[in-house]
Amino acid sequence: MPTSPALPLIMVTNDDGIDSPGILALRDAMTAVGRTIVVAPERDNSAVSHALTMSRPLRIRRRNQDTYTLDGTPTDCVVIGLGKLLDARPDLLVSGINPGPNLGDDISYSGTVSAAIEGTMYGIPSVAFSLVGEPPYDYALAMRIAITLAETVLADPLPDNTLLNINIPAGKACAGMVITRQGRRLWENSIQETFDPWGRRHYWIGGGTPLRDHGEDTDVAAIHKGLVSITPIHLDLTNHSGLHLLRGTWDLDRMQDKVAPANRGHRDNT
Ligand code: MN
Repeated sequence: MPTSPALPLIMVTNDDGIDSPGILALRDAMTAVGRTIVVAPERDNSAVSHALTMSRPLRIRRRNQDTYTLDGTPTDCVVIGLGKLLDARPDLLVSGINPGPNLGDDISYSGTVSAAIEGTMYGIPSVAFSLVGEPPYDYALAMRIAITLAETVLADPLPDNTLLNINIPAGKACAGMVITRQGRRLWENSIQETFDPWGRRHYWIGGGTPLRDHGEDTDVAAIHKGLVSITPIHLDLTNHSGLHLLRGTWDLDRMQDKVAPANRGHRDNT
């Protein structure tokens, strides 16, 4: 438990919407750890990634004490929640529990993870939770994992600019926990071709078969082995080894000459 005498303040959000059983489970779990405030989208916003709504106003509705909905995205909920709804800076932000995994490349589409990215951008320790399996989801194990991780993060701060992406295997028990790196998860045959009643062709993205990589230390491999996957995600998307490689090999002066030769010593003022 945290050493602070005051109860920690925990902001709870998700991408599946306020009526998702996953956020109710996460809110219930977090009441064992601190004081919770829920700010969640009105409707399902899965796969909206880190979208911020700038084209229209956003409306807050209060469901009950400490529970608010917003007609926007998970990122909108974090921005408005932190900026307008919470009376103090939260000690922790949690997102989920998403029904279904957020592994490997799927992280970049995930609204669940993006809410935690937004929290991290504000300097708030942030954790995203996803549960592997099929409906109906049993959140009991995921709730215990969420409590343990929340207590750990509150007691032992995360590295700077780093959130945790947690994936929990299906079932009532897990074989253990492991710290992982983000794997690869590409999808084969994930575009379905359909026809509308007038015979017009449509495409529906979804389904298909995930193609896994075989890195033993990845989030994908951990879930395959029935382990809870804990991936530290860094906000700096720079490929630092790639940066050094490009600096060492690309001839930027030559590229600049092609773009604007007059600017590099061959100036002709006629
Ligand atoms: Mn979702």
